[in-house]
Amino acid sequence: MQNMNTAPILQIEDIHKDYGTYQALKGVSLSVRQGEFIALVGPSGCGKTTLLKQIAGFEDATSGRISIDGRDMAGVPAAQRPTSIVFQKLALFPHMTVAENIGFPLKLRKVVPAEIAARVNEMIALMELKPIYLDRLPRALSGGEQQRVALARSMISSPKLLLLDEPLSALDVKLKKVLQSELKRLHRSVGVTFVHVTHDLEEAMMLADRICVMRAGHILQLGEPADIYYRPADAFVAGFIGETNLLPVEITRRGKDRVEYRGTGIADETGAIPVRFIADQVGTGQALMNVRPELIRRIGPGDKAECSMNAQVTEIFTKGGTVQYRAHTPEGYDLAIEIQGTSDLPMRVGEDVRLGWAKKDIWVLPAGAA
Ligand code: ATP
Repeated sequence: MQNMNTAPILQIEDIHKDYGTYQALKGVSLSVRQGEFIALVGPSGCGKTTLLKQIAGFEDATSGRISIDGRDMAGVPAAQRPTSIVFQKLALFPHMTVAENIGFPLKLRKVVPAEIAARVNEMIALMELKPIYLDRLPRALSGGEQQRVALARSMISSPKLLLLDEPLSALDVKLKKVLQSELKRLHRSVGVTFVHVTHDLEEAMMLADRICVMRAGHILQLGEPADIYYRPADAFVAGFIGETNLLPVEITRRGKDRVEYRGTGIADETGAIPVRFIADQVGTGQALMNVRPELIRRIGPGDKAECSMNAQVTEIFTKGGTVQYRAHTPEGYDLAIEIQGTSDLPMRVGEDVRLGWAKKDIWVLPAGAA
Protein backbone atom coordinates (compact mmCIF):
# COMPACT_ATOMS: atom_id res chain seq x y z
CA MET A 1 0.00 0.00 0.00
CA GLN A 2 1.44 3.32 -1.01
CA ASN A 3 0.45 6.92 -0.50
CA MET A 4 -2.01 5.85 2.11
CA ASN A 5 -3.46 8.68 4.12
CA THR A 6 -6.63 8.84 6.13
CA ALA A 7 -8.86 10.83 3.73
CA PRO A 8 -11.20 8.52 1.83
CA ILE A 9 -10.69 8.56 -1.92
CA LEU A 10 -14.08 6.88 -2.32
CA GLN A 11 -17.03 7.55 -0.07
CA ILE A 12 -20.25 5.64 -0.70
CA GLU A 13 -23.19 6.66 1.45
CA ASP A 14 -26.40 4.65 1.65
CA ILE A 15 -26.60 3.71 -2.03
CA HIS A 16 -29.81 2.08 -3.19
CA LYS A 17 -30.25 0.75 -6.70
CA ASP A 18 -33.60 -0.58 -7.92
CA TYR A 19 -34.15 -2.23 -11.27
CA GLY A 20 -37.93 -1.86 -11.54
CA THR A 21 -39.23 -3.53 -8.40
CA TYR A 22 -35.98 -5.46 -7.82
CA GLN A 23 -33.69 -3.95 -5.19
CA ALA A 24 -30.13 -4.78 -6.27
CA LEU A 25 -28.46 -2.51 -3.65
CA LYS A 26 -30.25 -1.93 -0.37
CA GLY A 27 -28.31 0.81 1.40
CA VAL A 28 -24.61 0.26 0.83
CA SER A 29 -22.09 2.50 2.60
CA LEU A 30 -18.35 2.12 2.16
CA SER A 31 -15.33 4.28 2.71
CA VAL A 32 -12.13 3.45 0.82
CA ARG A 33 -8.79 5.04 1.66
CA GLN A 34 -6.34 6.41 -0.88
CA GLY A 35 -4.09 3.61 -2.13
CA GLU A 36 -6.15 0.75 -0.70
CA PHE A 37 -6.87 -2.51 -2.49
CA ILE A 38 -10.46 -3.53 -1.76
CA ALA A 39 -11.87 -6.87 -2.89
CA LEU A 40 -15.64 -7.14 -3.30
CA VAL A 41 -16.85 -10.71 -2.81
CA GLY A 42 -20.24 -12.35 -2.40
CA PRO A 43 -22.51 -14.89 -4.04
CA SER A 44 -23.64 -14.45 -7.62
CA GLY A 45 -26.28 -11.73 -7.92
CA CYS A 46 -25.46 -10.03 -4.59
CA GLY A 47 -24.82 -6.66 -6.29
CA LYS A 48 -21.02 -6.47 -6.77
CA THR A 49 -21.11 -5.42 -10.43
CA THR A 50 -24.05 -3.12 -9.75
CA LEU A 51 -21.97 -1.34 -7.12
CA LEU A 52 -19.02 -0.97 -9.52
CA LYS A 53 -21.37 0.47 -12.15
CA GLN A 54 -22.59 3.13 -9.73
CA ILE A 55 -18.98 4.09 -8.89
CA ALA A 56 -18.00 4.20 -12.57
CA GLY A 57 -21.10 6.24 -13.43
CA PHE A 58 -22.53 3.74 -15.93
CA GLU A 59 -25.84 3.88 -14.09
CA ASP A 60 -27.52 6.34 -11.74
CA ALA A 61 -28.24 5.11 -8.24
CA THR A 62 -31.85 5.26 -7.08
CA SER A 63 -30.71 7.14 -3.97
CA GLY A 64 -27.57 7.77 -1.96
CA ARG A 65 -24.34 9.56 -2.61
CA ILE A 66 -20.95 8.69 -4.08
CA SER A 67 -17.95 11.02 -3.73
CA ILE A 68 -14.53 10.46 -5.25
CA ASP A 69 -11.63 12.45 -3.84
CA GLY A 70 -14.07 14.68 -1.98
CA ARG A 71 -16.20 15.49 -5.05
CA ASP A 72 -19.87 14.49 -5.27
CA MET A 73 -20.31 12.37 -8.41
CA ALA A 74 -24.05 13.09 -8.84
CA GLY A 75 -24.58 14.09 -12.46
CA VAL A 76 -20.92 13.48 -13.43
CA PRO A 77 -20.90 11.26 -16.55
CA ALA A 78 -18.71 8.14 -16.64
CA ALA A 79 -16.22 9.67 -19.07
CA GLN A 80 -15.54 12.54 -16.70
CA ARG A 81 -15.05 10.47 -13.56
CA PRO A 82 -11.49 9.80 -12.36
CA THR A 83 -12.13 6.06 -12.69
CA SER A 84 -11.16 3.30 -15.08
CA ILE A 85 -12.75 -0.11 -15.35
CA VAL A 86 -11.45 -3.47 -16.57
CA PHE A 87 -13.95 -6.23 -17.31
CA GLN A 88 -13.76 -10.01 -17.33
CA LYS A 89 -14.58 -10.11 -21.01
CA LEU A 90 -11.94 -8.33 -22.95
CA ALA A 91 -13.16 -5.08 -24.31
CA LEU A 92 -10.18 -4.44 -26.59
CA PHE A 93 -11.02 -3.02 -30.02
CA PRO A 94 -10.23 -5.90 -32.40
CA HIS A 95 -9.41 -3.70 -35.41
CA MET A 96 -6.99 -1.45 -33.50
CA THR A 97 -3.36 -2.29 -32.79
CA VAL A 98 -2.14 -2.79 -29.24
CA ALA A 99 -0.66 0.74 -29.28
CA GLU A 100 -3.94 2.23 -30.52
CA ASN A 101 -5.91 0.31 -27.92
CA ILE A 102 -3.69 1.44 -25.06
CA GLY A 103 -3.59 5.05 -26.25
CA PHE A 104 -7.32 5.26 -26.97
CA PRO A 105 -8.39 7.02 -23.72
CA LEU A 106 -5.81 9.77 -24.36
CA LYS A 107 -6.89 10.10 -28.01
CA LEU A 108 -10.45 10.69 -26.78
CA ARG A 109 -9.07 13.49 -24.62
CA LYS A 110 -7.34 14.95 -27.69
CA VAL A 111 -3.84 14.52 -26.27
CA VAL A 112 -1.17 15.15 -28.95
CA PRO A 113 0.16 11.99 -30.70
CA ALA A 114 3.76 12.34 -29.48
CA GLU A 115 2.61 12.44 -25.87
CA ILE A 116 0.27 9.50 -26.43
CA ALA A 117 3.16 7.47 -27.89
CA ALA A 118 5.36 8.30 -24.90
CA ARG A 119 2.65 7.32 -22.40
CA VAL A 120 1.91 4.10 -24.34
CA ASN A 121 5.58 3.15 -24.03
CA GLU A 122 5.46 3.83 -20.28
CA MET A 123 2.38 1.61 -19.96
CA ILE A 124 3.98 -1.18 -21.99
CA ALA A 125 6.95 -1.11 -19.62
CA LEU A 126 4.69 -0.98 -16.54
CA MET A 127 2.74 -4.03 -17.71
CA GLU A 128 5.92 -5.82 -18.82
CA LEU A 129 4.61 -6.23 -22.37
CA LYS A 130 7.10 -6.57 -25.20
CA PRO A 131 7.44 -3.43 -27.39
CA ILE A 132 7.18 -5.63 -30.51
CA TYR A 133 3.53 -6.21 -29.59
CA LEU A 134 2.67 -2.55 -30.18
CA ASP A 135 1.82 -2.97 -33.85
CA ARG A 136 -0.03 -6.26 -33.46
CA LEU A 137 -3.78 -6.67 -33.37
CA PRO A 138 -5.19 -8.06 -30.08
CA ARG A 139 -6.00 -11.43 -31.67
CA ALA A 140 -2.26 -12.03 -32.16
CA LEU A 141 -1.75 -12.00 -28.37
CA SER A 142 -2.47 -14.64 -25.73
CA GLY A 143 -5.40 -14.18 -23.31
CA GLY A 144 -3.05 -13.09 -20.53
CA GLU A 145 -1.26 -10.61 -22.78
CA GLN A 146 -4.59 -9.19 -23.92
CA GLN A 147 -5.61 -8.69 -20.31
CA ARG A 148 -2.31 -6.85 -19.66
CA VAL A 149 -3.13 -4.59 -22.63
CA ALA A 150 -6.57 -3.94 -21.11
CA LEU A 151 -4.89 -3.06 -17.79
CA ALA A 152 -2.39 -0.79 -19.58
CA ARG A 153 -5.28 0.98 -21.31
CA SER A 154 -7.11 1.41 -18.02
CA MET A 155 -4.05 2.93 -16.35
CA ILE A 156 -2.98 5.33 -19.12
CA SER A 157 -5.29 8.14 -18.07
CA SER A 158 -3.93 7.99 -14.48
CA PRO A 159 -7.25 7.16 -12.82
CA LYS A 160 -7.71 7.77 -9.11
CA LEU A 161 -9.72 4.58 -8.86
CA LEU A 162 -9.21 1.41 -10.85
CA LEU A 163 -12.34 -0.75 -10.90
CA LEU A 164 -11.77 -4.39 -11.77
CA ASP A 165 -14.74 -6.60 -12.60
CA GLU A 166 -13.39 -10.15 -12.43
CA PRO A 167 -10.56 -9.36 -14.87
CA LEU A 168 -8.79 -12.68 -14.27
CA SER A 169 -11.67 -15.13 -14.12
CA ALA A 170 -11.49 -16.16 -17.80
CA LEU A 171 -7.80 -17.11 -17.57
CA ASP A 172 -6.44 -20.59 -16.91
CA VAL A 173 -5.16 -21.33 -13.40
CA LYS A 174 -1.45 -20.87 -14.13
CA LEU A 175 -1.89 -17.62 -16.01
CA LYS A 176 -4.28 -16.37 -13.38
CA LYS A 177 -1.57 -16.83 -10.70
CA VAL A 178 0.90 -14.85 -12.82
CA LEU A 179 -1.58 -12.02 -13.40
CA GLN A 180 -2.53 -11.97 -9.70
CA SER A 181 1.11 -11.26 -8.84
CA GLU A 182 1.17 -8.66 -11.61
CA LEU A 183 -1.87 -6.92 -10.20
CA LYS A 184 -0.30 -6.82 -6.75
CA ARG A 185 2.91 -5.41 -8.19
CA LEU A 186 0.98 -2.88 -10.28
CA HIS A 187 -0.96 -1.77 -7.23
CA ARG A 188 2.23 -1.33 -5.20
CA SER A 189 4.09 0.51 -7.92
CA VAL A 190 1.41 2.99 -8.95
CA GLY A 191 -0.29 3.62 -5.60
CA VAL A 192 -3.72 3.84 -7.27
CA THR A 193 -6.79 2.69 -5.31
CA PHE A 194 -8.19 -0.62 -6.58
CA VAL A 195 -11.73 -1.93 -6.16
CA HIS A 196 -11.67 -5.51 -7.39
CA VAL A 197 -14.69 -7.78 -7.83
CA THR A 198 -13.77 -11.45 -7.69
CA HIS A 199 -15.34 -14.86 -7.21
CA ASP A 200 -12.02 -16.25 -6.15
CA LEU A 201 -11.68 -16.01 -2.38
CA GLU A 202 -8.04 -17.04 -2.42
CA GLU A 203 -7.41 -14.19 -4.85
CA ALA A 204 -9.25 -11.75 -2.56
CA MET A 205 -7.21 -12.95 0.45
CA MET A 206 -3.97 -12.68 -1.46
CA LEU A 207 -4.49 -9.27 -3.06
CA ALA A 208 -6.71 -7.16 -0.88
CA ASP A 209 -5.91 -4.88 2.04
CA ARG A 210 -9.56 -5.20 3.02
CA ILE A 211 -12.30 -7.56 1.84
CA CYS A 212 -15.92 -6.45 1.56
CA VAL A 213 -18.39 -9.34 1.79
CA MET A 214 -21.78 -8.64 0.20
CA ARG A 215 -25.02 -10.57 0.24
CA ALA A 216 -28.40 -9.69 -1.29
CA GLY A 217 -27.63 -6.00 -1.82
CA HIS A 218 -26.03 -5.44 1.59
CA ILE A 219 -22.48 -5.32 2.95
CA LEU A 220 -22.19 -7.96 5.67
CA GLN A 221 -18.61 -7.30 6.68
CA LEU A 222 -15.66 -5.16 5.68
CA GLY A 223 -12.31 -6.02 7.15
CA GLU A 224 -8.77 -7.19 6.70
CA PRO A 225 -8.49 -10.70 5.21
CA ALA A 226 -7.46 -12.33 8.50
CA ASP A 227 -10.36 -10.64 10.32
CA ILE A 228 -12.88 -11.81 7.77
CA TYR A 229 -11.43 -15.33 7.88
CA TYR A 230 -10.87 -15.78 11.59
CA ARG A 231 -13.42 -13.31 13.01
CA PRO A 232 -16.39 -13.49 10.62
CA ALA A 233 -19.39 -11.33 11.47
CA ASP A 234 -21.88 -14.14 11.09
CA ALA A 235 -22.38 -17.73 10.00
CA PHE A 236 -22.84 -16.74 6.36
CA VAL A 237 -19.50 -14.91 6.15
CA ALA A 238 -17.80 -17.75 8.05
CA GLY A 239 -19.00 -20.34 5.54
CA PHE A 240 -18.64 -18.17 2.45
CA ILE A 241 -15.01 -17.30 3.05
CA GLY A 242 -13.83 -20.88 3.42
CA GLU A 243 -14.73 -24.26 4.83
CA THR A 244 -15.37 -24.13 8.54
CA ASN A 245 -16.92 -25.81 11.57
CA LEU A 246 -19.77 -24.03 13.34
CA LEU A 247 -20.62 -25.77 16.59
CA PRO A 248 -23.79 -24.73 18.42
CA VAL A 249 -23.08 -23.52 21.97
CA GLU A 250 -25.16 -21.92 24.69
CA ILE A 251 -23.74 -18.84 26.36
CA THR A 252 -24.85 -19.08 29.97
CA ARG A 253 -23.19 -15.96 31.38
CA ARG A 254 -21.47 -13.03 29.77
CA GLY A 255 -18.89 -11.55 32.13
CA LYS A 256 -16.50 -8.65 31.63
CA ASP A 257 -13.47 -10.78 30.79
CA ARG A 258 -14.93 -14.16 29.91
CA VAL A 259 -18.13 -15.87 28.96
CA GLU A 260 -19.34 -19.14 30.35
CA TYR A 261 -20.77 -21.63 27.90
CA ARG A 262 -21.97 -25.17 27.29
CA GLY A 263 -21.53 -27.02 24.04
CA THR A 264 -23.01 -30.45 23.44
CA GLY A 265 -20.15 -32.92 23.25
CA ILE A 266 -17.43 -30.28 23.74
CA ALA A 267 -15.18 -31.11 26.68
CA ASP A 268 -13.74 -27.98 28.30
CA GLU A 269 -12.46 -28.03 31.86
CA THR A 270 -13.07 -24.33 32.48
CA GLY A 271 -16.34 -23.96 30.52
CA ALA A 272 -15.34 -20.39 29.74
CA ILE A 273 -13.89 -18.42 26.83
CA PRO A 274 -12.06 -15.07 27.04
CA VAL A 275 -14.27 -12.27 25.68
CA ARG A 276 -11.74 -11.34 23.01
CA PHE A 277 -12.77 -14.48 21.15
CA ILE A 278 -16.46 -13.57 21.20
CA ALA A 279 -18.21 -11.28 18.69
CA ASP A 280 -19.72 -8.17 20.31
CA GLN A 281 -23.27 -9.02 19.27
CA VAL A 282 -23.22 -12.36 21.10
CA GLY A 283 -25.29 -12.23 24.28
CA THR A 284 -26.52 -15.03 26.50
CA GLY A 285 -28.37 -17.82 24.70
CA GLN A 286 -27.58 -19.65 21.49
CA ALA A 287 -24.38 -18.90 19.58
CA LEU A 288 -21.97 -20.68 17.24
CA MET A 289 -18.36 -21.61 17.91
CA ASN A 290 -16.36 -21.19 14.71
CA VAL A 291 -13.25 -23.35 14.40
CA ARG A 292 -11.41 -23.51 11.08
CA PRO A 293 -10.46 -27.03 9.87
CA GLU A 294 -6.72 -26.30 9.95
CA LEU A 295 -6.89 -25.35 13.64
CA ILE A 296 -8.22 -28.72 14.75
CA ARG A 297 -5.75 -31.50 15.56
CA ARG A 298 -5.83 -35.05 16.72
CA ILE A 299 -5.20 -35.50 20.44
CA GLY A 300 -3.00 -38.46 21.35
CA PRO A 301 -3.30 -40.50 24.57
CA GLY A 302 -2.18 -38.36 27.50
CA ASP A 303 -2.31 -35.15 25.41
CA LYS A 304 -4.48 -32.25 26.45
CA ALA A 305 -6.44 -29.66 24.52
CA GLU A 306 -8.44 -26.75 25.87
CA CYS A 307 -11.50 -27.94 23.92
CA SER A 308 -12.01 -31.43 22.60
CA MET A 309 -14.59 -33.74 21.08
CA ASN A 310 -14.86 -37.44 20.25
CA ALA A 311 -15.47 -38.34 16.63
CA GLN A 312 -15.17 -41.11 14.09
CA VAL A 313 -13.25 -40.48 10.89
CA THR A 314 -15.51 -40.90 7.87
CA GLU A 315 -13.50 -39.59 4.91
CA ILE A 316 -9.97 -38.70 3.91
CA PHE A 317 -8.90 -36.59 0.91
CA THR A 318 -5.31 -35.86 0.10
CA LYS A 319 -4.87 -32.51 -1.59
CA GLY A 320 -1.29 -31.64 -2.46
CA GLY A 321 0.56 -31.09 0.81
CA THR A 322 -2.54 -31.17 2.99
CA VAL A 323 -4.81 -33.98 4.12
CA GLN A 324 -8.48 -33.21 4.67
CA TYR A 325 -10.63 -35.35 6.91
CA ARG A 326 -14.29 -35.57 7.76
CA ALA A 327 -15.26 -36.91 11.16
CA HIS A 328 -18.69 -37.60 12.62
CA THR A 329 -19.40 -36.92 16.29
CA PRO A 330 -21.87 -38.90 18.44
CA GLU A 331 -23.91 -35.66 18.71
CA GLY A 332 -24.41 -35.75 14.94
CA TYR A 333 -21.95 -33.05 13.84
CA ASP A 334 -19.71 -33.51 10.82
CA LEU A 335 -16.35 -31.90 11.41
CA ALA A 336 -13.87 -30.85 8.74
CA ILE A 337 -10.21 -31.18 9.69
CA GLU A 338 -7.20 -30.21 7.65
CA ILE A 339 -3.67 -31.31 8.50
CA GLN A 340 -0.69 -29.71 6.76
CA GLY A 341 2.17 -31.99 5.76
CA THR A 342 2.69 -35.28 7.53
CA SER A 343 1.19 -35.88 10.94
CA ASP A 344 2.60 -37.80 13.93
CA LEU A 345 -0.95 -38.94 14.55
CA PRO A 346 -2.41 -39.83 11.16
CA MET A 347 -6.06 -40.88 11.10
CA ARG A 348 -7.73 -43.74 9.25
CA VAL A 349 -11.30 -44.03 8.00
CA GLY A 350 -13.46 -45.70 10.66
CA GLU A 351 -11.09 -44.85 13.51
CA ASP A 352 -12.43 -43.34 16.74
CA VAL A 353 -10.37 -40.27 17.55
CA ARG A 354 -10.25 -37.36 19.95
CA LEU A 355 -10.05 -33.97 18.26
CA GLY A 356 -8.96 -30.81 19.99
CA TRP A 357 -8.36 -27.12 19.53
CA ALA A 358 -7.17 -24.13 21.51
CA LYS A 359 -9.26 -21.25 22.87
CA LYS A 360 -7.21 -18.74 20.89
CA ASP A 361 -8.44 -20.47 17.72
CA ILE A 362 -12.11 -20.02 18.54
CA TRP A 363 -14.41 -17.29 17.33
CA VAL A 364 -17.92 -17.26 18.78
CA LEU A 365 -20.48 -15.60 16.56
CA PRO A 366 -24.22 -15.02 16.68
CA ALA A 367 -26.46 -18.00 15.94
CA GLY A 368 -28.67 -17.40 12.95
CA ALA A 369 -29.51 -18.67 9.53
CA ALA A 370 -26.49 -18.89 7.26
P1 ATP B 1 -22.10 -12.08 -10.37
O1 ATP B 1 -21.12 -12.52 -9.32
O2 ATP B 1 -22.93 -13.22 -10.86
O3 ATP B 1 -21.48 -11.27 -11.46
P2 ATP B 1 -23.07 -9.70 -9.01
O4 ATP B 1 -22.96 -9.75 -7.54
O5 ATP B 1 -22.07 -8.90 -9.76
O6 ATP B 1 -23.17 -11.18 -9.60
P3 ATP B 1 -25.01 -7.92 -10.17
O7 ATP B 1 -24.60 -8.05 -11.60
O8 ATP B 1 -24.62 -6.70 -9.46
O9 ATP B 1 -24.54 -9.20 -9.35
O10 ATP B 1 -26.59 -8.08 -10.12
C1 ATP B 1 -27.32 -7.95 -8.90
C2 ATP B 1 -28.78 -8.30 -9.18
O11 ATP B 1 -29.37 -7.27 -9.97
C3 ATP B 1 -28.94 -9.60 -9.95
O12 ATP B 1 -30.03 -10.31 -9.40
C4 ATP B 1 -29.24 -9.15 -11.36
O13 ATP B 1 -30.07 -10.07 -12.03
C5 ATP B 1 -29.94 -7.81 -11.15
N1 ATP B 1 -29.69 -6.88 -12.26
C6 ATP B 1 -28.48 -6.42 -12.66
N2 ATP B 1 -28.62 -5.57 -13.71
C7 ATP B 1 -29.93 -5.51 -13.98
C8 ATP B 1 -30.72 -4.80 -14.94
N3 ATP B 1 -30.16 -3.97 -15.83
N4 ATP B 1 -32.06 -4.97 -14.90
C9 ATP B 1 -32.63 -5.80 -14.00
N5 ATP B 1 -31.95 -6.49 -13.05
C10 ATP B 1 -30.63 -6.35 -13.05
